[in-house]
Amino acid sequence: MRDYDTETEFVRMNYIVLDMEWNQPYAPVCVERAPFPLIGEIIQIGAVMLSDDGGRLEIIDEFKETISPTYYTKLHKGVKKVTGLSQSDISNGRPFPEAIFDFRIWCGSPCVLLTWGRDDIPMLLDNLFVHNIDAKWITDCYDLQPIYNAQTDGQKQQRALSLAMEHFEIALDEDRPAHDALNDAYYTAQVCMKLDLDRGIAEYGSEGKFDLGGYFTHISSSLYSGFESRQAALCDRKISVVTCPVCGKTMPYPLWVKQSGSKKIAMCHCEDHGDYMVRVQFFKGAGGVLKACKTLYKATDEVKAYYNDKYELFISRDPSLARGEEDGDKPRRRRRRHRGGRRKKAAEAETPVVETVSE
Ligand SMILES: [Zn+2]
Repeated sequence: MRDYDTETEFVRMNYIVLDMEWNQPYAPVCVERAPFPLIGEIIQIGAVMLSDDGGRLEIIDEFKETISPTYYTKLHKGVKKVTGLSQSDISNGRPFPEAIFDFRIWCGSPCVLLTWGRDDIPMLLDNLFVHNIDAKWITDCYDLQPIYNAQTDGQKQQRALSLAMEHFEIALDEDRPAHDALNDAYYTAQVCMKLDLDRGIAEYGSEGKFDLGGYFTHISSSLYSGFESRQAALCDRKISVVTCPVCGKTMPYPLWVKQSGSKKIAMCHCEDHGDYMVRVQFFKGAGGVLKACKTLYKATDEVKAYYNDKYELFISRDPSLARGEEDGDKPRRRRRRHRGGRRKKAAEAETPVVETVSE
């Protein structure tokens, strides 16, 4: 399938534009808990290979596999509707380990993955992890949205692929309906070809880099929105309640310290299963909606040392915020007060201390 130019094979740089579809569990109770909560299971991989010939991008190959899920075998009706996939499509798909093996071979090396948005890479890592498949071959990944934003109107928000297509006057092909993994990868590649990719990658900020170094410790990621402020988000149960990925028990309330930029980290402990680090990163979505990405990491010695440095810096600015030895490891739960309506002030007083460092 792949068109090799034997004379230039070794001087050309190839990019892989990747898009995936994944199935969802039917209810939170179904979320696979071992070895960690799996929030989605990949059911389709689509990819387009772009060859960079001195800055000119060209589509040279395509890859598509439908995958039969191992954990969430029943196709979610919402996923069915969006993707047009049927239960028999996925039931007759290939097992993930086989499909991903072929994908890896197809990608070749070095493998630079390009995605539209930040969802596909963590999902790929989660799925590799749950199948116990090595992920070290994933070394370079770029979200094309910040590159598109920087090279068009300079805005910061997340953009739908359809909007970028409209911007570049890329028409939807009759034979290539959207929300199919390969077709979406194809349209993403079309957008990519309108961008100065070399410059985009050269200017790509470290803030936007996918945290691949933490792969072996990365357990799960989820995205939340609908918060009034960062402060409100940190106090919201969706963010503040951290459960052990093994037993599901709620771990003590996180004490957030600044990692860098808008990122906050906290250390959590399960009496039976050890330490975990939770990280929250804020960003603005479409229409300026505040979003928070919450990621859980296994706290290896390296992760703990990293956290301790950030913690020392944090308390050096305000020692009164230091976590007490005697009460620090116990859960601090907000009590609900219903008497006499909502006691906002009291509730606020009971919320955990959060960092308010201004720089
Ligand atoms: Zn536990």
